[in-house]
Amino acid sequence: MGFRDAVMTGLAPDGGLLIPERIPDVRDRLAEWSKLSYQDITFEILRLFVDFPENDLRKLIERSYAPFRHPEIAPAIPVGPVQILELFHGPTLAFKDIALQFLGHFFEYILEERKQHVNILAATSGDTGSAAIHGVRGKERIRIFVMHPKGRIAPLQEKQMTSVLDPNVFNLAIRGTFDDCQKIMKSMFRDLEFKERHGLGAVNSVNWARVLAQIVYYFSAGLYVMNSCKAPRVRFAVPTGNFGDILAGYYAYRMGLPIGKLVLATNENDILSRFFNTGDYRIGTVEHTLSPSMDIQVASNFERYLYYRLNEDPRVLRELLEDFEQSGALSVPVQHGEPVDSVFQAGVGDREQILATIRTYQERYGYLMDPHTAVGVSVAERHRVDDEPMICLATAHPAKFSGAIREATGQEPHHDILDKVINAPTRVETLPADENAVRDFVDLHSPSPAT
Ligand SMILES: *Cc1c(COP(=O)(O)O)cnc(C)c1O
Repeated sequence: MGFRDAVMTGLAPDGGLLIPERIPDVRDRLAEWSKLSYQDITFEILRLFVDFPENDLRKLIERSYAPFRHPEIAPAIPVGPVQILELFHGPTLAFKDIALQFLGHFFEYILEERKQHVNILAATSGDTGSAAIHGVRGKERIRIFVMHPKGRIAPLQEKQMTSVLDPNVFNLAIRGTFDDCQKIMKSMFRDLEFKERHGLGAVNSVNWARVLAQIVYYFSAGLYVMNSCKAPRVRFAVPTGNFGDILAGYYAYRMGLPIGKLVLATNENDILSRFFNTGDYRIGTVEHTLSPSMDIQVASNFERYLYYRLNEDPRVLRELLEDFEQSGALSVPVQHGEPVDSVFQAGVGDREQILATIRTYQERYGYLMDPHTAVGVSVAERHRVDDEPMICLATAHPAKFSGAIREATGQEPHHDILDKVINAPTRVETLPADENAVRDFVDLHSPSPAT
């Protein structure tokens, strides 16, 4: 499948995930790349996977980063014993902007070539919906319908979505739970006639383009920190839920970036850290934590990693995942006394550790971090070594999660964007948790056929 079709379908026709045919080896390019700007590194990496004409690709990169508020896009900042890689300078102040700004522009480019339209249908409990809306707002060939459970998401996140007034954006407040929203969405996607008629599309976290866009900051930060610290290798600590962000780091490692360890950090929803410590992947119940964007049990991108872990044998992978669907558990063979994977280390940052980390970094270094970032930093501190600098991914601006910050420090963090959003006018449609109501709404607001 070509890159264009991979972006437009998201999932493979058999329900599996798409992976690149080959992982390019870029080791002999690194010295040269370390002198490039963030935009130019992006270009060098994307062109290995994306067959767009060079000039078009450059323009697309420029547009995708235009709404970012920091000239370096994703700066790495030394703070105490670690380097903080700030990924939250995009329009919604969370790292998902990096991937979703690209996805919006990729969609627009491909739809323009094909003279097609798409209606994106999404269900969100917060972060993703907001970043997706900001990724496609105002784009001509795209409409987006985002369902959220009415009154059940953080008021600030709701405002970030409903204050977008572009005519191609439809916020649907569903009188029900997040599960209801997801059920409605899945059922609508299963109706192939409806799906075809409306050109339904998705922006979910398994879209290959999202992973691809995230590979870039591992290279840019890794090369920058290796240079500035005169180190032969770096470590990355990544707070994770869906295994999307850290998967991009794994690809960077396999492409040849000198990564000593990928430190995987979870909150109390620890299915992934248990896996990397025991080889056993077993569903538990979802707990609500201070880092809600990581309150996930089944990690949708994990099967991409498993494919490599199982020596790239798709049959073994399929059997394992079919068993997992039945039993809620799977395990991989681990040599006695060996780690599950020599490049991964994993741990949990629990509630007390998160609050203590936020407080300590504020008091000692004057640096305020959000609770997701604190999960990563807390686990990173247990896995530091002297000769490999530790780069901790900062996935959201602290003002997005002011409750945890208040609890940890007594301070009220602010960001002018969020302050503005609180009083902005909004547009949102309230609907019952009924699939027919959502279908009728899409029918009414998507009058033109898909082509
Ligand atoms: C989505 C999200 C994460 C987790 O990212 P994954 O790709 O699911 O691992 C971490 N922090 C924040 C703020 C997020 O929005």
